[in-house]
Amino acid sequence: MFNILLKNGLVCDGSGEKPFKGDVAIKDGKIAEVAVSIQSQAETILDVSGLVVSPAFIDMHSHSDRAYFHDDRCESKINQGVATEVIGQCGDSLFPRSQEQMTRLKNEGPEDKSEEGEHYQSKDFKSLRERAKADGHKMSTNLIQLIGHNSIRRGVVGLSGRASSSEENKLSAYLLDKNLEQGTWGLSLGLGYMPGIFSDINELVELGKVCCKHNVVITSHMRNEADLVHEAVDEMIRINRESGAAVHIAHLKISSTKRWGTADKLYEQIEKARQNGVAITADMYPYNASSTGITNVLPGWAMEGGSDETVRRLTKPGEERDKLYAHLCDRYPTKVEGDRVYVISTRGRYPEADDKTMGELSEELNLSVPDTIMRTLIETKCRADGIFYSMHEDDVAYLLSKDIAIGSDGVARPYDPAKNNGKPHPRAFGTFPRFLRLRREKNICPIETAIYRMTKKPAGIVGLKNRGLLAPSYIADITVFDESKVSDTATFKNPFQKPLGIVHVLMNGRFAIRDGCQTDERLGDYLLR
Ligand SMILES: [Zn+2]
Repeated sequence: MFNILLKNGLVCDGSGEKPFKGDVAIKDGKIAEVAVSIQSQAETILDVSGLVVSPAFIDMHSHSDRAYFHDDRCESKINQGVATEVIGQCGDSLFPRSQEQMTRLKNEGPEDKSEEGEHYQSKDFKSLRERAKADGHKMSTNLIQLIGHNSIRRGVVGLSGRASSSEENKLSAYLLDKNLEQGTWGLSLGLGYMPGIFSDINELVELGKVCCKHNVVITSHMRNEADLVHEAVDEMIRINRESGAAVHIAHLKISSTKRWGTADKLYEQIEKARQNGVAITADMYPYNASSTGITNVLPGWAMEGGSDETVRRLTKPGEERDKLYAHLCDRYPTKVEGDRVYVISTRGRYPEADDKTMGELSEELNLSVPDTIMRTLIETKCRADGIFYSMHEDDVAYLLSKDIAIGSDGVARPYDPAKNNGKPHPRAFGTFPRFLRLRREKNICPIETAIYRMTKKPAGIVGLKNRGLLAPSYIADITVFDESKVSDTATFKNPFQKPLGIVHVLMNGRFAIRDGCQTDERLGDYLLR
């Protein structure tokens, strides 16, 4: 006797093979049988005719590291049909912290007090898990933890803008090795952020060798996603060639107006490398705007030493300030460019800028756009979040039609606006249903290919062996949705909206979402490699 039997669904098993009308049986948290017709009895039999039965989605690129400390429902993800998130991305994880950092944290508290969960910064992955468990935290999605390179480098090299020494590389490699031993799934680079921005190829290759030894992936927020994006991809290829570790490009995009229309060349570069034996993959989200810290408008060198130093460079008259001002004048000369930068939240530091584009604020203040950006950076101490309308929709559409995994780059968030900082990018609420809607409306790829890119493909990239496929003995993480209705409803103006068409989500064979409503179960946990 099975626990649950899903009958008459369109079974899309995650492999990329053609779907078929059939049944899926679940027993003891695992898939027991997948067949055209299963006659055995079950405690619960659900007729899912007219609906697609798929492995639950795996969010290849997530920033939910701190989300569950704040709200264990993980609403914006589970309601999209996502049961597993790959976190610790863009170089940032809550560990490892050095002894000195831990002491400072204990005495002074977290650096950024507005960030929930920041006091869970831990010396290693094991102690993070133990502390969270001891405090009784639960979660509603599974988390696959990567180790942030910037988190390692902060403790080993600090915030100075120099290459690391070979002694420092040895220490970083040791920390990486130790945390990989504890069940993490790979290394994430954040080469556009502090302090990874200052790392050279030697450092990355040394760490790549550790990843190769453990047979784990290196994901990367690349050094450049704009004018130098091809050079940035070349760097990823070189890391693979010289270290042997598989490399993965996070949130693949072209975010420079000068390069708009060249997505085909970018994809070709990656595809060619792959054909030449480079283990390289990528993920993306289906939106033409990105979202990150407001300092994204500045060049990398402005970040050396941390935000206080950046503010000093912006305020103190002199060569550095002039160079930064010239940079902003070059990138954001008029209201058109200013309107591509939208401030989501200044976390109370400069409310005048909240929910406005830099173009709009410049008109209100009667200042030029570069002056408005300077003022906003200074008033917020460089700690505001923005949305950047920096991609061309044709480039996004082109990449969306290719063999690229789907990753939201978003945080599991509550639907209650009061529990969020400003208006986050709708990708946190809509990425997966949006991809399915665009697929349906624009015939981007067959449904089985779309499902593959949200299930087995990401599972393969991180080396997750028992999820992402509907096959006997796999964990019963399943999403059931209405292919004719599935849609995102979250917008930039109102992101806090539940998608349409996600009917059931099961995790370990239990209902996380049933008939479109989240249950009281908190079925997630850290998955250990
Ligand atoms: Zn990133």
